[in-house]
Amino acid sequence: MPRILVAGETLIDFIPDAPGPLASVDSFDKRAGGAPANVAVGLARLDADVDFWTRVGDDAFGDFLVETLADEGLSGELVERDSEAQTTLAFVSLGEDADREFSFYHDRTADTRMEPGTVDDDELADYDWVHVDVLSLDTEPSRDAVVDLAERARMTDSIVSFDPNSRPERWGEFSYVEAAKQGFRLADVVKATPEDLREAGFEGDAADLARQLCEFGPHTVLVTLGDEGSYAYATADAPWADEETEVTHDGYSVDPVDTTGAGDAFTAGAIAALSEGEPLSEALAFGNAVAATTTTAGGAMTALPTREAVRTFREQ
Ligand code: ATP
Repeated sequence: MPRILVAGETLIDFIPDAPGPLASVDSFDKRAGGAPANVAVGLARLDADVDFWTRVGDDAFGDFLVETLADEGLSGELVERDSEAQTTLAFVSLGEDADREFSFYHDRTADTRMEPGTVDDDELADYDWVHVDVLSLDTEPSRDAVVDLAERARMTDSIVSFDPNSRPERWGEFSYVEAAKQGFRLADVVKATPEDLREAGFEGDAADLARQLCEFGPHTVLVTLGDEGSYAYATADAPWADEETEVTHDGYSVDPVDTTGAGDAFTAGAIAALSEGEPLSEALAFGNAVAATTTTAGGAMTALPTREAVRTFREQ
């Protein structure tokens, strides 16, 4: 079975009890979150052999995250505890149109202190796939840690995937555009939305965007399109394409309850399929099915489906 390593942040999402501006929210639900954590848990629920490298504070929120990840069957070996920094927190507010805004408490928190070299070359050689996210690149030393991991992974046979998850409220010291491009240069596979790529300075539809990205080095680009499903482009260098390939999948029609984390769910499904040797068309179909299932229940991480649930969903 292919071994997958996901690296990056996990944090506590505080979800409001009602829509409206943050200042008027009375109470919040505490949920484990963070895009890389959602991908790692998504893969674990799909029975993939996945490890998660992250760092949390030696505090009560860190305890909660460690327990949550362990309950999902993820090994705690690469879940570091930091006695000198706190766990990252994100307060969410829901706009009238259900758009989400985030207020991050992320200054010098534990996950920003992940350090290069924690996963050594011998350990890294055991992984077939390494997934990283742009959010680790917004501060140091996590930026160095994740760039170093991806650079070394590319020197092995491992596939490196990258999500340029744009969160404009997170970018201060470093530029999102520059960090996203750094990620594109490190990756074999990029999963993005058209909005992420436009924020990074690219223009055009999904097909144009994917082709522009491949000029930076990736051989495969997966573009998610919300309720319209997803699009993929691969050059002849991709292990799943003998020649330049373009695939679309229209997605599944569902009554969404909460679309938060749908992109992370898609990433987990697509990585699971591609790492198991499935063709690009099946990676899109499976990724869309995992993501659509996730939208039918509340909570980004809690709603992630098992492989059995995805199978049942697709049969229906
Ligand atoms: P998020 O930021 O909320 O995690 P995203 O913006 O990264 O999501 P989207 O393109 O909105 O990503 O959604 C990812 C995938 O989720 C889509 O490709 C699709 O498969 C599924 N999806 C999202 N919204 C819907 C919907 N309304 N109905 C069915 N499927 C959906």
